[in-house]
This record gives sequence, C-alpha cells and structure tokens, in this order.
Amino acid sequence: MTETDLLARHRAAMPNWLALYYDEPIEIVSGRGRHVTDGDGRTYLDFFAGILTNAIGYDIPEISDAVRRQVDTGVLHTSTMYLIRNQVELAEKIAALSGLDNPKVFFTNSGTEANETALMLATQHRRSNQVLALRNSYHGRAFGTVAITGNRGWSASSLSPVNVSYVQGGYRYRSPFRDFSDADYIAACVDDLREVIETTTSGDVACMIAEPIQGVGGFATPPDGLFGAFAEVLAEYGIPLISDEVQTGWGRTGEHFWGIQAHGVTPAAMTFAKGLGNGLAIGGVVAEAELMDCLGANSLSTFGGNPVATGGAKAVLDYLLEHDLQANAAKVGGMLLDGLRAHAERCALIGDVRGKGLMIGVELVAPGTDRPAPASAARVMELAKQRGLLVGKGGLHGNVLRVAPPMTLTEEEAAQGLAVLAESISLAEQEFSA
Ligand code: PMP
Repeated sequence: MTETDLLARHRAAMPNWLALYYDEPIEIVSGRGRHVTDGDGRTYLDFFAGILTNAIGYDIPEISDAVRRQVDTGVLHTSTMYLIRNQVELAEKIAALSGLDNPKVFFTNSGTEANETALMLATQHRRSNQVLALRNSYHGRAFGTVAITGNRGWSASSLSPVNVSYVQGGYRYRSPFRDFSDADYIAACVDDLREVIETTTSGDVACMIAEPIQGVGGFATPPDGLFGAFAEVLAEYGIPLISDEVQTGWGRTGEHFWGIQAHGVTPAAMTFAKGLGNGLAIGGVVAEAELMDCLGANSLSTFGGNPVATGGAKAVLDYLLEHDLQANAAKVGGMLLDGLRAHAERCALIGDVRGKGLMIGVELVAPGTDRPAPASAARVMELAKQRGLLVGKGGLHGNVLRVAPPMTLTEEEAAQGLAVLAESISLAEQEFSA
C-alpha cells in the first residue's frame, strides 16, 4: 500500500508534532475542479480546499498557463532586489481592491510572514510592543505570531517578543455572552476591550489584530458591526486595526471581498495568503503608506513576491473577478448554511452552525449539553471520507467541522456534499448514543 509506506517514512523523517488528518492519512496526487484523487486512486469531493488554500479549485488552465509562462522563461526567480513585473502588477491590483487609503503592498511567502510583517510595522510605527488580539485567534507559527495566537492548541511556546492582551469578540459560542442579542454582545465586547486597554496596557498599544471570522478557531463568526464598534474605541487611543484576511479574503465570505467589510470599517492594514495563490506559496500585507513606509530596513524577502507565485496569483485574482466567484460563494454557501442549519434541528450532536459564504463551522457537542465532542468530529470526518467527501475540523477543542469548498463549487456539488455530511453527522450521533 503506497500510503501506508509513505506514512511510515513521514513519521521517521519528520517531526512528531506534525499532525495529520484521518486514521489512515491520504496523499492527494491529483485534482480536477472540486475533486481530488489520492494515491490509491480514490476520488473525493473537496469541502476543505486544502484549508482554503485552493480557493478556486484544481487544474484551472488560466492559472497553470500563467505559471507555465514564467517557467518557460527559464527564470523561476532571481532576487526581489531586481524589478519583477508580475510583482508590481499584482501589488497594483491588490492595492486597488483593498479599499484602503493610499495603500502599498508587500509580499511574503506565507500568512505567518505576512502577520510577522504587520507586527513589525505596527510595533515600529508606535514604538510599542503591546498588541491586542482576540481570544481563540490563530495568526501563524513563528515567534511573534505564536505569541498573538489565543488558541492554546496552536501556541507552541509561551515565550514571547510581544506583550499581548486578549479580548472577547472572536468565539461567541463559548463566551459568557453566548445568549446575548447581537447589539448586547457587541456592547459587552466593547466594554471588555475598553477595560483591557485601560487596565492591562499602558495605553500606547501598537495595534489590534483580528480575524473577521476565526479560521483555525472553528469559523467563529462575530456579529456584523463588532469591528466597527471596536474601531471607534481604538481610534480614541490611536490604535490601528489590522485585519488578518488570510482565510476571509478574496470574496470567500460571499457578501464582501474582505471579511472586515461586513463591519463597516476600513482597517489600517490587511494581511493575506492562502487563497491568493490557489496552491502557490504567497502571502503579503496591504497597508496605508504611512504604516508601510515606517520601516527603515527589512525589505529583503528572498522569495516573497517571486515571479512564479505573483504571476500565478495575478491569474487567480483575474479568474476570481471575471467569474464573480464571490457571488457564487454567497449562493452555494447560502445553500450549505441553510441545509446544515436545517439538519441541526434534527441532530442533537450539533450545538452551533455558523459562518458566511464558503466558511461554515458546525460545532459538535455531547447531545443535550454544550460539552465539546472532539471524538465525534473526528468520527464524522472518517465517515465522510469513506463516502467520498473531505471536510476539515478546528476550534479550541477540535470539535468544529469546517466546511470551506473551492469557490467554483456548483449547486449540484453543494447538494451532494451536504447530503454526505448530514448523513455522516447523523451516523456519528447514532454511534455516540449507542
Ligand atoms: N492567519 C490565519 C487567519 C490563518 O488561518 C493562517 C493559517 N492557517 C495563518 C495566518 C498562517 O498562515 P501560513 O500557514 O501560510 O503561515
């Protein structure tokens, strides 16, 4: 068995903290549209898009051609110290789409580096290393970003270059304000933010960073307007807001191109990665020029913005816009959200269904309680996989199923995947009760 063999070699050659999905982890060897095939020839409908990395889907000729055009020049990359046409053109496109005042763009290879860059900018700009972040957040895996990650399961180190204070506003379902109305929830979070600024910081905070919908945290979705209300408080203290759009960017939430736009606020900076490359390694920051230009050095990222990644990403953006995938995300995402909410009525294993567009979280609980049911989430994933569907999981307790298909998902595929997922959840519930 090829995959069993590969798993043994993976375990021997790679660190023991590398987590893999499934009792029998799969190797994806090819993909077409919204489907992937593993090393044993089994095909799956991909409702996780490789953790939102394959924003559009697999084997898109326009994107492959853009990459191939660069490969055919014989130059995969030389140095970001030279002019790179693809990079400049992509920066112009992202700046124009950002909605920011006087925006500039810097490219990295990942979301982690994008957030590290944003931290560097904000801390330098304000000459402070105090940062506000949300409980249950995930911002990356390097020294600074681990420090602003409020999800303990992903914070490998307690050592920190950043003085971080965590506030409410991310994970409503497991907060003291779960049953509040939207307006009361926002008011409670605003009070908390103000109190944290006043009582745990010295006031000169470098920035607040937040995911508009918490990705790794289980697609935890705050009510619209929360970050607008936060921004008013932040403005009183001169604290810039940074929106981590690594998962919520590029129209995935359906309603808006950037997740933060649901809150009626323009942030000082946004970070991005994942979907922009549709599988290519690219990330970056778009920020107001004043913030972006505050650094005196540090412009060198050997590979950030290389011509293969930026050439491919330009094609991804063009494809997204030309095919209005944001509208499709709203349409098929709405079908999935409605279908899963209807299923939740019949299914006591489901404690909460939330999300927007093609970011939908299904939080599993021990029936009749609100206790997290992580074993059930793992079981649903196995049952769905056996039936040809890949979904993800996440959340503070590993008990949230994450549904994030490629944005080209058709209505027929949405219906197919929904049926399999609902069946898998019901089967897991029966097993749980037995
Ligand atoms: N921010 C968010 C919101 C993310 O979801 C992730 C990745 N899961 C990151 C940052 C880090 O991105 P990367 O894995 O590309 O470093």
